[in-house]
Amino acid sequence: MVAENGTEKTNQEETNNVLKSTQTVIHKALEKLGYPEEVYELLKEPLRMMTVKIPIRMDDGSIKIFTGHRAQHNDAVGPTKGGIRFHPGVTETEVKALSIWMSLKCGIVDLPYGGGKGGIVCDPRDMSFRELERLSRGYVRAISQIVGPTKDIPAPDVFTNSQIMAWMMDEYSRIDEFNSPGFITGKPLVLGGSHGRDSATAKGVTICIREAAKKKGIQIEGARVVVQGFGNAGSYLSKFMHDAGAKVVGISDAYGALYDPNGLDIDYLLDRRDSFGTVTKLFNNTISNKELLELECDILVPAAIENQITKDNAHDIRAKIVVEAANGPTTLEATEILTDRGILLVPDVLASAGGVTVSYFEWVQNNQGYYWSEEEVEEKLEKIMVKSFNSIYDTAQTRRVDMRLAAYMVGVRKMAEASRFRGWI
Ligand code: NAD
Repeated sequence: MVAENGTEKTNQEETNNVLKSTQTVIHKALEKLGYPEEVYELLKEPLRMMTVKIPIRMDDGSIKIFTGHRAQHNDAVGPTKGGIRFHPGVTETEVKALSIWMSLKCGIVDLPYGGGKGGIVCDPRDMSFRELERLSRGYVRAISQIVGPTKDIPAPDVFTNSQIMAWMMDEYSRIDEFNSPGFITGKPLVLGGSHGRDSATAKGVTICIREAAKKKGIQIEGARVVVQGFGNAGSYLSKFMHDAGAKVVGISDAYGALYDPNGLDIDYLLDRRDSFGTVTKLFNNTISNKELLELECDILVPAAIENQITKDNAHDIRAKIVVEAANGPTTLEATEILTDRGILLVPDVLASAGGVTVSYFEWVQNNQGYYWSEEEVEEKLEKIMVKSFNSIYDTAQTRRVDMRLAAYMVGVRKMAEASRFRGWI
């Protein structure tokens, strides 16, 4: 939610609803699959949640105490895995919900992981490079006992990037007294990062868009695309859609949105965006994020933050397909409204799973010390995303449920089975 002064306002109630909605869909998915109530009791919250205080010396000499969280949802399948978010709106509840989504994503794309997630309440846009380094290192020191290459493997998320991953990897390597590239993914290439990791989430979303468009009989060439958010996910996605011949008619960031019915000059915008995905401040003729979401288009991609399509605006969405690159951009009521209106909604836990898939490839390469070409990464990602999309689409058709419930049914099964085999339930 954007406040009038341009800063993001977070709403605790909205975040609570995000967790409750996730629990509701998990419950429904487990019921449909015939699992008993105790499986839901186990999976409705993370197994482990750590909250830490991180004292950091700021550049002006003052000490500021930051709050950080790390949630580990379920490690029955394998170590937990998930990004770290630096954002003023981070809350414990949000981190919990995000860790559950990570478990579902790993289940959907069939990775040997459970879900984890972390976050620090801060605004990196107001911090210097060195303050960010101290905060990144401080966070790793604070959570070092519960993370590690075979325990819980972090990655980038909102407002964190490969530089932050590099500092975190370096700090962990000092604590561990080994070079530990497998501790974290999303690293720079020279530190054991994988080809294709930066663009992996957007690549996965692009594959889902292509598969969904086939189902709806929409040609990508000439299709009108609107993308909310111009950060890692949104900017690469805009570029991929533009290069595939689609017309990206709208993009946005936290401060506003740009619209051109003839298609925006994406290469120019990519050139002008800053490292936080901000670009609209350079223009006067902007529209609001609300107006952006309601533009007439073929494909709408929320790629920013949670709770953007709600019961209040779901009736005004004028897209044929909504593909969720962001985590949790559509509420459950809105999902129902869009589905009833015949809009095909490809849910976050499927659409944005390309990021964790290539993070897994990075971890595998780190563990074996043998690195793959960009083509190998892309080929492997393509296979996994196409298979996952079709398995969920088919589940939705055969079980007569929407794509979100179908995705949860596919995503929760492995975790439930692994917990059972381990004798936990
Ligand atoms: P990012 O920090 O690179 O970019 C975020 C973008 O959203 C920026 O353009 C920012 O200006 C915009 N934004 C922030 N607050 C906003 C608001 N209130 N209204 C409108 N726009 C706003 O983040 P990212 O990595 O691109 O992540 C975006 C979404 O995708 C998040 O939900 C994230 O969890 C999800 N995601 C990211 C990855 C990944 O690998 N990067 C993987 C899976 C899911």
